[in-house]
Amino acid sequence: MILVKTIEHLQEITALNREAGRQIGMVPTMGALHPGHISLINSSKQAGEYCVCSIFINPAQFNDPSDFEKYPVTIEEDIDLLEGAGCDLLFLPGVATLYPAGDIKKVFDLGYLEQILEGKYRPGHFQGVCRVVDKFLSIVRPDRLYLGQKDYQQCMVVRKMMALEGHQAEMTIMPTLREADGLAMSSRNLRLNDTQRKQAIAISRSLYDIKEHIAPGNVEGLAERSIAKLTAQGFNVDYISIADAGTLEPVTDWDGRQALVALVAAYSGEVRLIDNVLLHAP
Ligand code: AMP
Repeated sequence: MILVKTIEHLQEITALNREAGRQIGMVPTMGALHPGHISLINSSKQAGEYCVCSIFINPAQFNDPSDFEKYPVTIEEDIDLLEGAGCDLLFLPGVATLYPAGDIKKVFDLGYLEQILEGKYRPGHFQGVCRVVDKFLSIVRPDRLYLGQKDYQQCMVVRKMMALEGHQAEMTIMPTLREADGLAMSSRNLRLNDTQRKQAIAISRSLYDIKEHIAPGNVEGLAERSIAKLTAQGFNVDYISIADAGTLEPVTDWDGRQALVALVAAYSGEVRLIDNVLLHAP
């Protein structure tokens, strides 16, 4: 694996690969890699692509400064995992490389998607995500962009940004990888203490409980029950939402056919965890 820190070096290498007729796959990450991230690398490698992974803890997407400061960094282990997965290139830009002095801050018209759920509870977060992914797509010009369903709303936001900016890459969304007890793998899980880690199982359970019990008719009570359960277990719940899987508009009455997704964001102590589960696909 080649480790690259500058845009010029990266583009020299991607140009050579493109000339050689290879397709390029891109996996943007913030590091502290786990098998969920590696599944995205594997998918790109299986497609026969030249796989570019980036590790960049993007300051622009952190609305909470302490979350940024405490974001886990495990770069040595990350490099080993990427080598093991056959990743071809690791892009490790510094902040000044992506956001040089005088960089013009684009504003993306994300509309409704930015006002709900993560958009509502993390103001500015999706603008920051779009800012960095827009840069990566312009720099790397991948044929395919790999994202995880774990960040369901982020996938929708990035799709919208790509349409707005005319990025041509195809998007592949990989399923959420989970720990044996159901907890969605996340870099932030490293910040949970032993007790919190054991209790965190309740987050995915709250979603699977909805999946198990959902029935046509009014579904508001289901979400409310899950919020009450999590709260009783000591979580500070930002939201649990049963929403249209295509638009994320909240659904109160389900016709039994509409594709739905249940999404949760909740704090265990200072650690904010998110998860989602598709409830029903037509
Ligand atoms: P992050 O490093 O958290 O920015 O994540 C980088 C990419 O990995 C994003 O597209 C995430 O959605 C994806 N990802 C994170 N956790 C998982 C998981 N448990 N399973 C699959 N993909 C994931």
